[in-house]
Amino acid sequence: MASLACILGLVLFATSMTQAQSPLPPGAPPPARVIRRTVPITNTIRRGFATGTRDSTGRPGRNYWQQWTEYTINARLDVATSTVAGRETVVLHNNSDSALRVILLRLDQNIFAPRAARSDFLEDPIEVTQGMRVTRLTVNGQAVNLSPQLDRSGRISTASGPAALGLDQTVAQIFLQSPVPAHQAVMLEADWNFEVPNVAVGRGIRMGRQADSLYQVAQWYPRIAMYDDLRGWDGEPYLGQSEFYNNFGRWDVSLDLPAGWVVGASGTLQNPDQVLSATTRERLARVTQSDEQQTIVGVGEMGPGKSTVAGDRVVWRFTADTAGDFAWATSRSYVWDATRATIPGRGTIPVNIFYLPGDSSFRRAGAVVRHALEYYSGLWMPYSFPQMTITDGPELGMEYPMFIMSGLGAADHETGHQWWPMMVGVNETWYGWMDEGFNSFMNALSSADRQGQRGSLDGRGQQYGRTSGNELESPMMWPANYQGPFYGFTTYLKAPQMLSMLGGVVGDSALLTAMSEYAKTWRFKHPSPWDYMFFMERALGRDLDWFWYYWLFTTEEVEGSIANVSTSGMKSTVTVRQDGEMPSPVVLQVQFAPTGPAIRPMPNSRMTDSVTAVVTWPVDVWFGGHRTFDAVLNFGGRAITRITLDPFRRFPDRDQRDNVWPRP
Ligand SMILES: [Zn+2]
Repeated sequence: MASLACILGLVLFATSMTQAQSPLPPGAPPPARVIRRTVPITNTIRRGFATGTRDSTGRPGRNYWQQWTEYTINARLDVATSTVAGRETVVLHNNSDSALRVILLRLDQNIFAPRAARSDFLEDPIEVTQGMRVTRLTVNGQAVNLSPQLDRSGRISTASGPAALGLDQTVAQIFLQSPVPAHQAVMLEADWNFEVPNVAVGRGIRMGRQADSLYQVAQWYPRIAMYDDLRGWDGEPYLGQSEFYNNFGRWDVSLDLPAGWVVGASGTLQNPDQVLSATTRERLARVTQSDEQQTIVGVGEMGPGKSTVAGDRVVWRFTADTAGDFAWATSRSYVWDATRATIPGRGTIPVNIFYLPGDSSFRRAGAVVRHALEYYSGLWMPYSFPQMTITDGPELGMEYPMFIMSGLGAADHETGHQWWPMMVGVNETWYGWMDEGFNSFMNALSSADRQGQRGSLDGRGQQYGRTSGNELESPMMWPANYQGPFYGFTTYLKAPQMLSMLGGVVGDSALLTAMSEYAKTWRFKHPSPWDYMFFMERALGRDLDWFWYYWLFTTEEVEGSIANVSTSGMKSTVTVRQDGEMPSPVVLQVQFAPTGPAIRPMPNSRMTDSVTAVVTWPVDVWFGGHRTFDAVLNFGGRAITRITLDPFRRFPDRDQRDNVWPRP
């Protein structure tokens, strides 16, 4: 998601708390520098290594498995009470290597209930509802006790059948009477209902309604929690900020709505003949024939017998295959436009745009979504889904498979989420940087491309020096659910800085190619941070453990400077200093006088114009633990007029004034 006001607030907060400071008082002896060159291996990934589900190649291990879920949901929206009531059947295929004794169920609507735990950093007020009311639950046809008594030892008894605890929380547990063996399936049935909260624009938590005319319905049905090979059940509460980590599966969803209301949803409409008017169907059939944005339902064309078939109620049936979730939005007032996107290697797909008639800027969102689908398909891998939908409403930036709730401003970002986490199923609740962070990184490239420019990664890596050292910042590997006031920075902004530096180490085009290979390798799978780190090292042919260690597990910086330059004959010795703990390659830009002896390029240099060279020494020069490195320049005697350390501004640096010689 991108609650922009919220994120900007956090960034301003972060910025206001940083100060330019010299890390060492003048004359103090330099502390010893020990550079770590290994990646921490925690119990989580150790478990994957031990069972062979993960390995050091960064590709799915020989024993890799993941769960699969199949949902059939019938739901009805009652506009008079703003209630969605549903009945669902979900089959969980236990592809894991062990029996399940408990099943965790996500009930995200309970975040609106009075007793729910919520992130301290959410904006208030949100509307309080009764949350999710689960009225019936069965496991393989056996009724689940919804209000079990605990025995004297505080345990729950399943002697008389399965029992559920925590149905008033965002994560509930169903204790099974008999475990679900490995490689077998279990079927749950549930009846449930909730009131869709009425929210002001931008003030919801992913879902909400505008009075009784527009409903954005997401995180809306009891959903089987993630169960993976690294941690087993993902029991992280939904606190409203970090979003999700979902199983892949299939959805068959029937939505019973007032006639005349139109719907945008994850998935593909299965029964247009029973739902849409002949005019609407004819217009939809032409959508993929041109790049024009076309009107499907215009102003004055809304209502039963006009946009939809006539009558009182209409049941829309959608299916979504190999997805991680299903969401939808409906309104009696939506204008429905559509255009197409051309996906490389796949052909054209429809793009649906649902917006309120007064919102003229929203019409432009179609072109933004199309550009994002086409650009990211080329950058990483082709968009895999059969359609894409953007919907207007109170939520200004939130993503679901094939479906986003977004204003124009976040349309590119939310479409970008189709790559992570919708296709590459990362654990965003823990490792938000693999989702929001990678997305922010690519948004900058997409935004430049939309304006006909080439995106540049320059500058961002160096910026991190302004934040490093702030004790409120947790390392990127700290669970995003608990990142506190730096959540926006650590989750959204730091990964682009990290990838800017990585491009500065391995080259930008090599970086983008490796990221694309990573995406393809983990398409519709669940990579861990270690899989990403190891995959990138293999793809780039480099030992980058030092890089991952400092960026992901610490909050250290490089803080480089030019300490001295001395010239003797044809040689100039540039003493480069690093006061931070993170090492980096030494990159010097050397500018020469316009005339003089011929410039003879060094083997580790490249000329960027006739009087400018960029000279590079690898990061290895620091591994002995030194704080200074003497970079010897010998270009054949042409006078040097200016030397700049880190000219592309890729390496975290608190003070850039000391990167230039002679000092300005
Ligand atoms: Zn986002």
